[in-house]
Amino acid sequence: MDILSAYDPRQGLPSASAFGRLALCPGSFTMEKACPDESSDAASEGTLLHAYMEQLLTGEPWEGTPLTAEQVELCERAMRLLDGVKEMIERDNPGAVFHLVSTEERVFYRNLFGTAYYSGQWDALFEVNCPDSSFMMVADWKFGRVEVDSAEANRQLEALVPLVAQKEHNDNAIHQGIYAAIIQPRVAGPASVAFYDAEAIDQAEQRSLAVAKAAMDPDAPRYCSEEACRYCRAKAVCHEAAAMVQQAALIATDRDKWELFSPDEKIQAYRLAKTAKKWAAAAEYRFEQDVAAGLIPGFEMGPGRTSFTVTDPSGAFSALNAEFPEVVTAEAFAGCCKVGITELDKLVHEACKAANPKATTKSSREWLRQLLAEYGESKTTKGSVKEIGQ
Ligand code: SF4
Repeated sequence: MDILSAYDPRQGLPSASAFGRLALCPGSFTMEKACPDESSDAASEGTLLHAYMEQLLTGEPWEGTPLTAEQVELCERAMRLLDGVKEMIERDNPGAVFHLVSTEERVFYRNLFGTAYYSGQWDALFEVNCPDSSFMMVADWKFGRVEVDSAEANRQLEALVPLVAQKEHNDNAIHQGIYAAIIQPRVAGPASVAFYDAEAIDQAEQRSLAVAKAAMDPDAPRYCSEEACRYCRAKAVCHEAAAMVQQAALIATDRDKWELFSPDEKIQAYRLAKTAKKWAAAAEYRFEQDVAAGLIPGFEMGPGRTSFTVTDPSGAFSALNAEFPEVVTAEAFAGCCKVGITELDKLVHEACKAANPKATTKSSREWLRQLLAEYGESKTTKGSVKEIGQ
């Protein structure tokens, strides 16, 4: 084991969370290894919410960063979706009892000789005991706004299934199958659930091993696509991704009227544009990091812009009114104020919840907007493109 992998929980092996991408672009495994980790607000929030979910499941006191009301509500919705999965399993298996086995546990897939091929970390693993049978249930939370593949089609979940089966085997437990659930509280609808019987577990094992082995081949090919490249950290340095961006620049020169493009060509152009945008953001991110580190002659980071926000309006009014009582009147000052609706939502939700423990963030928001309709205005942004399939 080299020094780097000693600090890597994945021990330099492919991880189930990347299997969706690795199945599309095996070469991205080697490419990403050479790229630094990228931080983002979404990733930090995901880590925080996963930790909070763990606390909700285990009942341990929460000692981490306080969550916003929306984040708490999101986790509560994830728990309700999990309850929905349990109810669904119970309908098929009356009398089912669920025991939490572990949370956020990373395990490695190993062959008979102990050689590891890949690892995966489930968010929650349950044992499901029924009067005549028993099962395992593995759950994965997804807190993003983009809907991920359904449980049946999800490569990450599929790769977790053999890991659960191996754990059962090591614990000398025998079950009749594995339920695998994707829980996405920011996406409408119930959780997505798939059931793996012995044959499906075997297939999942073969398919996942094939993905892991292909990815570990140092000469693995790279295939660029919007789906594969979306979250790949290698975008900024990947020849295939750059070539696709060039293709995006050429697409409109064949026939110079958008109206002459077929729907398929328009879809292709749209996908290229999305990939190009992601590529540009990745290149910009890496460039900024280098400029900040003083590695690019002729460039330096300019100072950030400083903004000023009044956080104590009543104090600000008193101070100004004392100076200019004729000009800064209460009415004139109120005309300069805007109420932070996010903060107000939070405040009102706390009050609504105290009055009715079943109040949700959504119901409190709707109530507040109705009450304040004549004192504010609503604006709706233009919608975004959503692929609905055919
Ligand atoms: S940027 Fe795209 S093509 Fe390049 S390695 Fe990543 S997923 Fe593969």
